[in-house]
Amino acid sequence: MSENEPLCARCAKRGKTCCQWSEIYITQGDVNRIVLMTGQSGFYEYRTAQNPQYLDQADDPPWQKHVFRSDGARRVLKRGPGGDCIFLGQKGCVLPLDCRPLVCRLYPFTYHYEGIHEELETGCPRELVESGDMLLKELDMNPEQARKWHQTLYAEICCHNDYDRPDI
Ligand code: SF4
Ligand code: SF4
Repeated sequence: MSENEPLCARCAKRGKTCCQWSEIYITQGDVNRIVLMTGQSGFYEYRTAQNPQYLDQADDPPWQKHVFRSDGARRVLKRGPGGDCIFLGQKGCVLPLDCRPLVCRLYPFTYHYEGIHEELETGCPRELVESGDMLLKELDMNPEQARKWHQTLYAEICCHNDYDRPDI
């Protein structure tokens, strides 16, 4: 295993990655960008969360109010039979960064409607990086950029909620 390989490639050699076990909520803005970029449709569906605790987002009112339909389902990317995201290719995500779902772009940041938190998600393999402080650097993630994506995510969650439309 080469130390010079990107962390996500080393992570994939070690076992399942976030693209293989995550449920990816997508905004209507994400849908529009992906359709524009790929010409595809039918890449998402409405599913309830595997973990019922996920339905309780009391600390994040916009998420609680706008992400879920009245039946508790939300718009997520489809996954293959083994659980892989539909956009996971041999060399990682096939979507260019600027049309990747905002939730994906923000991983492993943790956040709620008011902003990004200090602590990171625990899914990335810390044992493959020199220290926890190096994780974002190894992932080539920029907190300033992440803050902008976070703002876009919540703007789209709040403003493009069209679950009430009869055709979706
Ligand atoms: S973001 Fe983290 S969990 Fe996902 S592939 Fe990269 S290192 Fe692995
Ligand atoms: S859209 Fe790309 S980054 Fe997001 S889960 Fe799917 S493969 Fe991974």
